[in-house]
Amino acid sequence: MSDTKATDKVVKSEADWRKELTPMQYAVLREKATERPFTGEYEYETKPGTYVCAGCGQTLFESDAKFDSGCGWPSFTQPAAESHVEEEQDHSHGMIRTEVLCSKCSGHLGHVFNDGPGSTGLRYCINSAALKLKPR
Ligand SMILES: [Zn+2]
Repeated sequence: MSDTKATDKVVKSEADWRKELTPMQYAVLREKATERPFTGEYEYETKPGTYVCAGCGQTLFESDAKFDSGCGWPSFTQPAAESHVEEEQDHSHGMIRTEVLCSKCSGHLGHVFNDGPGSTGLRYCINSAALKLKPR
């Protein structure tokens, strides 16, 4: 390991995550589960605020970027900061999708699709369980 650059990654054991997260948050963030559509806490949320990672508290999305996609999960046109999310190819379930992860704790958030309505053309389809809304 020659790379000595400091990182601010949050690294915890699975046992610690289990203690700190609710079973639903753990299933989504750590086991890449997807909550059932139209069941999430923030699906119809319209309060202005900042959505942070339920695992580590990093800012992920602003409510300004949230829109009603009708897909059953909270949807955003863009992350609050590009560096706060990571994207990875996901070949599970016989589909090729782009997985979205929190860049700080590597928690699974959801997927991003390129059929969004905004200028970015993107639709970040995110599990409510991976988010916490901090109202303004
Ligand atoms: Zn996180």
